[in-house]
Amino acid sequence: MASTLSPDRLHALSSRFRGDLIHPDSESYDSARAVWNGMIDRRPAAILRCKSIADVQSAVRFAREHELPLAIRGGGHNAAGLATCDAGIVIDLSGMHDVVVDPARRVARAGGGATWGDFDRATAQHGLATTGGAISTTGVAGLTLGGGLGWLMRSYGMSCDNLIGAEVVTADGQLRRASEAENPDLLWALRGGGGNFGVVTTFEFQLHQVSTVLGGMLLYPLTRAREAFRLYRDVAKWAPDKLTVFAGMLHSPDGIPLVAFLVCYNGPAEEGERVIRAIRDFGAPVAGEIGPMPYTALQSMLDAGFPSGLHVHWRSEFVKSIPDELIETVVSAYERVPSPLNAILFEQFGGAVSRIPRDATAYDQRDADFNLVIVARWTDPAHAEENVAWARSLSDAARAYTTGRVYVNYIGAGEAPDRVRAAFGDDKFAKLSAIKRKYDPTNLFRLNQNIPPG
Ligand SMILES: Cc1cc2nc3c(=O)[nH]c(=O)nc-3n(C[C@H](O)[C@H](O)[C@H](O)COP(=O)(O)OP(=O)(O)OC[C@H]3O[C@@H](n4cnc5c(N)ncnc54)[C@H](O)[C@@H]3O)c2cc1C
Repeated sequence: MASTLSPDRLHALSSRFRGDLIHPDSESYDSARAVWNGMIDRRPAAILRCKSIADVQSAVRFAREHELPLAIRGGGHNAAGLATCDAGIVIDLSGMHDVVVDPARRVARAGGGATWGDFDRATAQHGLATTGGAISTTGVAGLTLGGGLGWLMRSYGMSCDNLIGAEVVTADGQLRRASEAENPDLLWALRGGGGNFGVVTTFEFQLHQVSTVLGGMLLYPLTRAREAFRLYRDVAKWAPDKLTVFAGMLHSPDGIPLVAFLVCYNGPAEEGERVIRAIRDFGAPVAGEIGPMPYTALQSMLDAGFPSGLHVHWRSEFVKSIPDELIETVVSAYERVPSPLNAILFEQFGGAVSRIPRDATAYDQRDADFNLVIVARWTDPAHAEENVAWARSLSDAARAYTTGRVYVNYIGAGEAPDRVRAAFGDDKFAKLSAIKRKYDPTNLFRLNQNIPPG
């Protein structure tokens, strides 16, 4: 397929599109086609930076009429590179990032291209927030559509659990509303089923009162990693919903290997201090601190550690518990890590996430206690092979202790298609396929973790 559009097609497109049309001859083409993962190098025929719902409708109809591959870009952070494509159309929503808050109803409406930074800034003005991702540059769209895990999920459920409505341009170019009252099957599918059902132009979220949290991170030498993870699994057993702790291994900017506790207590600092005493008692950290901070500060605390442009291979697996053997597997793998940019993280689930009925959303993994995330990152393409092999072999070795289920937003590039089914389970996959058939019978939206029409 040609990687450019013929002059006739370009003319036809520009006559009905009011946003920015970026094509291979445009000055901004290279910056516009780049996504967060620097390993992804695709050349779309056109990037349509939409300014309105009408633009999105024109773009969807154009791609359908001309049978072009169609990718949707929210925040562009998907590690598998799902926000772009070769020789097709990218609907880029980054220009549609407004967030409007109704403090009386505790509801926020966010454009399809908003980031969590946009979202949290707007809601924080009213002392409100909802569960969002832990890095402020990540897109509200992709993260919510796949589930959405973050610091507040044990208090309020995942991002998708707080999604109460959406406006969606479906494959026929129509704008549809999804809510409990209108197209409830579509809302159910958007709560975790990914970008399969159309282009979401507006997300509507339930908000909660959140302003200051007790948060931060404590860092210790990697030699203490085994005992740190044993403490972590104990803390997770009794942690109240207000406490969320992630624990992981990483290198400091000057190359020192470390183990870290990352903490959010969503409540008064004094109460939180009592709750986290066991973590404080682990000893004086070599770096980091925990203290009262605005929720927005916690939300951007990790941003500098996750810049865009690095080459990334990402794997993940849910685990029910963290036995000593799994601790040994991950720590010994990290002791042999080929790149200091690589990291391993356990994310704590449970709390409100586990109390929401399994049938309530397309998102499925409500009974796993942790998610194990393996992130390999490097700068020189020549180091790709050893880093990908490191992540793969650790993920294979860890599989003996995992549930075999995966978070759809963390499926890495090149993983087998059966991993998508593993994210939902056979029953939900079948239900999502049926909803897909209703809203996208020809699988126009297939450049995603795809659920083909049943
Ligand atoms: C640094 C980093 C930190 C992360 N932290 C977290 C975290 O804390 N919690 C968490 O749950 N996940 C996290 N993730 C994973 C994240 O949820 C996924 O990468 C997600 O896909 C990112 O959403 P996006 O909008 O930025 O992605 P994009 O790459 O733009 O899109 C991802 C997918 O969503 C679809 N999509 C995007 N926008 C729309 C839309 N408006 N309508 C319909 N479909 C759309 C795309 O087609 C694509 O399939 C993180 C990822 C990174 C890179």
